[in-house]
Amino acid sequence: MGKPTGFLEYARELPPEMPPLERIRHWDEFHLPMDEARLRAQGARCMDCGTPFCHTGLTLGGAASGCPIHNLIPEWNDLVYRGLWREALERLHKTNNFPEFTGRVCPAPCEGACVLGIIRPPVAIKAIECAIADRGWELGWITPRPPRTRTGKKVAIVGSGPAGLACADQLNQAGHWVTVYERADRIGGLLMYGIPNMKLDKRIVQRRVDLLAQEGIRFVPNCEVGRDLPAGKLLDEYDAVVLCCGATKPRDLPVEGRNLKGVHFAMEFLTVNTKRLLDPGWNREDSIHARGRDVIVVGGGDTGTDCVATALRQGCRSVLQLEILPKPPETRAPGNPWPEWPRIFRVDYGQEEAAAVQGEDPRRYRTTVVRFLGDETGHVKGVRTVMVDWQKDSQGRFSPVPVPGTEQTLPAQLVLLAMGFLGPEDTILDQLELERDPRGNVKAEYGRFQTNVPRVFAAGDMRRGQSLVVWAINEGRACAREVDRFLMGRTVLP
Ligand SMILES: Cc1cc2nc3c(=O)[nH]c(=O)nc-3n(C[C@H](O)[C@H](O)[C@H](O)COP(=O)(O)OP(=O)(O)OC[C@H]3O[C@@H](n4cnc5c(N)ncnc54)[C@H](O)[C@@H]3O)c2cc1C
Ligand code: SF4
Repeated sequence: MGKPTGFLEYARELPPEMPPLERIRHWDEFHLPMDEARLRAQGARCMDCGTPFCHTGLTLGGAASGCPIHNLIPEWNDLVYRGLWREALERLHKTNNFPEFTGRVCPAPCEGACVLGIIRPPVAIKAIECAIADRGWELGWITPRPPRTRTGKKVAIVGSGPAGLACADQLNQAGHWVTVYERADRIGGLLMYGIPNMKLDKRIVQRRVDLLAQEGIRFVPNCEVGRDLPAGKLLDEYDAVVLCCGATKPRDLPVEGRNLKGVHFAMEFLTVNTKRLLDPGWNREDSIHARGRDVIVVGGGDTGTDCVATALRQGCRSVLQLEILPKPPETRAPGNPWPEWPRIFRVDYGQEEAAAVQGEDPRRYRTTVVRFLGDETGHVKGVRTVMVDWQKDSQGRFSPVPVPGTEQTLPAQLVLLAMGFLGPEDTILDQLELERDPRGNVKAEYGRFQTNVPRVFAAGDMRRGQSLVVWAINEGRACAREVDRFLMGRTVLP
């Protein structure tokens, strides 16, 4: 522990952010770097509390508590406090393949479980993690490390999101030949086409992908397994196959008017926007744009927030975000104690930006859409909404009940559906005759990752349902260990 009294001397401080009205004029990341002295003071706040809940990675109350990849947080906090940045990077890389991603986009369940958080604002763990990784890249400490020997075993990974990349990195380090197939034109999964550039600059994703390629991983973009390449063929050519295809089936809202033009899934909107940004010459005539439109985002989660922020940058006329659940409390409710993830009201970057432009938070709680309204050309022109009450049904489950007299019509020429995801797509599952779990995800026990088909493993959102980047890394790493054990009869991987 660096400074025993650090947590008494220093207040929690986060990296500065560009003001909302300035940052919505471009697509660059809005978090600005923090100077070294300040970061070291933040490291000094860590109490090295003996039983550090911050790195437990348990599931409590249905959400992660502590870091799912068990980052050695107190150790690198101390190293940062002492200015030993390179050693801190080494510790960080022991548990996290991609700290420059989690340091930017992780919701930081570690901070929700920080022991200091019981009495004071928690240690700024995520900001320190990001600074360690960024410094490592800037100073040239992160360089290709191809494995010294090769086992001769070949593994195919389908899907190049954080689960597929973490699995590939681990298996490559263990000496296996790894090929990653990706149907998109770029590698990275939702890190590339999903999470917007202002949260995670795509050059940062590409930089890591390039490093993995230099270490010997073969990437095959523009190849949809199941369509361009039969899934069964992979089993002929490889010793093992790992499926990391994500949970990409979006939840729909099948109410009257759903087929009107201008009603889209959030991912269509976000993907097209990133594509336009990365390939400026690219533009499809039918591609979705928010400029000059009243935009309604259905869904109050992170994907919805990304849509709000993207619509603002595209120059929408107005934006609203509808959420069917009630507004969360300002502080932890009695049934949500530390170290559970605090289910409290938060203002994320998109809402902060909308409030700066429109004068108020864009969210409307306990509100859902009952009908989409169209104009004479078949384009959406508005939505009919209703407020709901959450009441217990006959089986004791809470369900939304419309409140009479609360219907309202809101103008909208673009509606984005961001209501979550229902699991993986069917093609590969059908071709390989894979079993599903009761939620429709690929059935493969956590910790073993083996599906019902011999030599076929599954990890990430495809196995656990739509989740977080940090869980995808956890699953990719742990699945690699099981694949290595299967191939070699023992394993060298953590
Ligand atoms: C808009 C959005 C924003 C998010 N923001 C955050 C955030 O800020 N922080 C956070 O922690 N989490 C966030 N998440 C969740 C997080 O991105 C996912 O949990 C994580 O990316 C899952 O990783 P994965 O590798 O399992 O799958 P994915 O990242 O979904 O990658 C799966 C890949 O498989 C490819 N694929 C699918 N089928 C095939 C096939 N047949 N052949 C070849 N390739 C195929 C897909 O094209 C995709 O590239 C967000 C999710 C969304 C949708
Ligand atoms: S990966 Fe996420 S949970 Fe783990 S230390 Fe980093 S910010 Fe915290």
